[in-house]
Amino acid sequence: KPRLENKTALITGAASGIGSAIAELFAREGASLALLDVDIAAAETLARELADSGHRAIAVQADVSDADEVQHAVTQAQEALGRIDILINGAGINVFRDPLTLSEADWQRNLGVNLQGAWHCARAVLPSMLEASYGHIVNIASVHGHKIIPGSFPYPVAKHGLIGLTRALGLEYAARGIRVNSISPGLILTPAAERYFESCPDPEAERRRQTELLPCKRIGTSEEVAYAALFLASDEARFINATDLLVDGGRSQL
Ligand code: NAD
Repeated sequence: KPRLENKTALITGAASGIGSAIAELFAREGASLALLDVDIAAAETLARELADSGHRAIAVQADVSDADEVQHAVTQAQEALGRIDILINGAGINVFRDPLTLSEADWQRNLGVNLQGAWHCARAVLPSMLEASYGHIVNIASVHGHKIIPGSFPYPVAKHGLIGLTRALGLEYAARGIRVNSISPGLILTPAAERYFESCPDPEAERRRQTELLPCKRIGTSEEVAYAALFLASDEARFINATDLLVDGGRSQL
């Protein structure tokens, strides 16, 4: 039996990488989906592909850092799907800067997308989840939310905050049927990771260096993160709340 039969999910950052892998897996597991992304053309393409293979999926547009856009998109999703049982906060951006020359705009953008974005989406879906006494939220954090890797400032500030948001919100509504957990992926081969490699003076050397740093000597896949999200979002994880699951091939333990 599909594990998300009769469930609805709103996935942010659904047009690429980890978000789109979660969308594809959740669709295969029977969920009806709202794919939220700032890149509406890419979200619509994926929604069409899923619909063509018999799944229920719509695309909605929002920049998650904008609370009003998020509220509008969530209302559209609720109207189309009836309700939202699962929220996956996958939208995120890499902001790696020198602390002293970091602009105010980049500081705000990092927090706005990577931290406040998840809060905006949670706040928009929580009232109806509370009304139904049922809901699961999964935030996609990062190993950068656990371990500081020099040269990654200020991204880890937001990801530490996102793990804090997970724990705080998880406890806030635990008695009312809502669970909030996060996943902390290590290096995962996605378009964002490819862009990072391409930004390095010697992309192939950086790819080799990063691979060598991993205990399993290979970079993770988006699907491997999606399986963790499937577990946390499913009823099988009903006693798991306010915690973080590292999906990093053991990297953070070194
Ligand atoms: P990606 O760039 O491939 O996909 C991110 C998606 O989010 C894109 O579709 C993009 O359009 C969307 N997005 C970006 N900003 C947005 C905004 N303001 N509003 C709405 N949508 C927005 O990235 P990815 O590597 O798949 O990363 C997904 C998540 O996983 C991010 O939160 C990232 O921080 C996290 N993560 C990634 C890795 C990795 O190695 N790839 C590791 C740890 C954590």
